[in-house]
Amino acid sequence: MHRGTNLPAVGGYNQALILDVIRRSGEGASRVELAEKTGLSAQTLSNVSRRLLDEGLIRESGKMVTGPGKPRTILRLEPEARFAVGVHLDPTVITYVVLDLEGHVVAHSRTRTPVGTKPEETIRRLTVSVNAIIETSGIDATRILGIGIAAPGPLDAEGGQVFNPPLMTEWHNVPLGASLAASTGLPVFVEKDVTAAVAAEQWMGALGDLKNSLFFYYGTGVGAGLVVDGAVVRGASSNSGDIGHLIVDPDGPLCRCGKRGCLGDSVAPVSLVLEAIEAGLVSAPTGELDSVTVDNDFTRLLSLADEGNGHAVVIVERAARRIARGVLAIVSILDVDRVVFGGPFWDRASRAYLGVVPGAVADDPALMMTHPIRFEQSKLGADVAAIGAGCLVLDRVLSPKPTDLLI
Ligand SMILES: [Zn+2]
Repeated sequence: MHRGTNLPAVGGYNQALILDVIRRSGEGASRVELAEKTGLSAQTLSNVSRRLLDEGLIRESGKMVTGPGKPRTILRLEPEARFAVGVHLDPTVITYVVLDLEGHVVAHSRTRTPVGTKPEETIRRLTVSVNAIIETSGIDATRILGIGIAAPGPLDAEGGQVFNPPLMTEWHNVPLGASLAASTGLPVFVEKDVTAAVAAEQWMGALGDLKNSLFFYYGTGVGAGLVVDGAVVRGASSNSGDIGHLIVDPDGPLCRCGKRGCLGDSVAPVSLVLEAIEAGLVSAPTGELDSVTVDNDFTRLLSLADEGNGHAVVIVERAARRIARGVLAIVSILDVDRVVFGGPFWDRASRAYLGVVPGAVADDPALMMTHPIRFEQSKLGADVAAIGAGCLVLDRVLSPKPTDLLI
């Protein structure tokens, strides 16, 4: 728990601190409770809460009687006082959400990621879609705090630059943050997609407190979002979580890195669709295998497996066992006790995969755990990384940062 300070020059920090405590309290908190939790004096607290009330960020919401003395006024967050836009740029699909201050999704949209176009054109379309979602949600644009973008790595989160994501071949050293900030006039924060996803789970708290957890992200590619000792792991350059080249099947398909059976390439939806084409389960495309075909054929493969088609079952279960080997390596290295699955392609595959993965991990002789591992799936669905990107904006604004005290 952070503590407040009563020095006059740190109003911004105290304001964020009080907002944070009110937000986390759910049902709201009285000034007395806030003073106890933050260590701020009654006078400072009264001044800061007056300012927050004037700015419309909080409201007085009823009174609470707690024994003798005056009933205490409850202060609650005003969720619709400000909003954040979250964008998830996946190589296949772009997801947009607008979040209120409590992190609730108030607007949502989705578009296909343009294929074979220059990054400038993609950013132009991002701008159009961001403006459109703000406009159709009916929110006064002055209430938008900023835009968070979850993007594939490797990237420079601080500088907002996307380097060369393996599945977006046109993208090389793209100043995504600066370009979108210039075209929208809003502050832009960039985060790696898997980190955004795990941050969303932690911020929203739908699965309770994540102390030591792996978020297994299943999208066009795979990745790991990590929480260790209650903190989201970003790494030295905000690029942690690259698990695509963990070798999980020495007999698996040849990866673009030159090795066989890398996790990313051997379980990616496109790889499974290629296996399904090979087995004659879905028809081979006449031209190039595009993202729409992969999307549809992956769904088709899963429903065939669901119906008990032997070839489909083999393909899907093999992928599940490969995922299990990847999960086993990560949970062993970090000693995590919860594994959360999610991402754009997870939901439709969850039944088939969750029927295999927990048992395959638990039964593996390489597992040296002394505690059980819980396997769960994200409650935030395919929007998880976009929500995480929006939470990044809320976090910058709402969470007290000790660095704010450096003046
Ligand atoms: Zn590889």
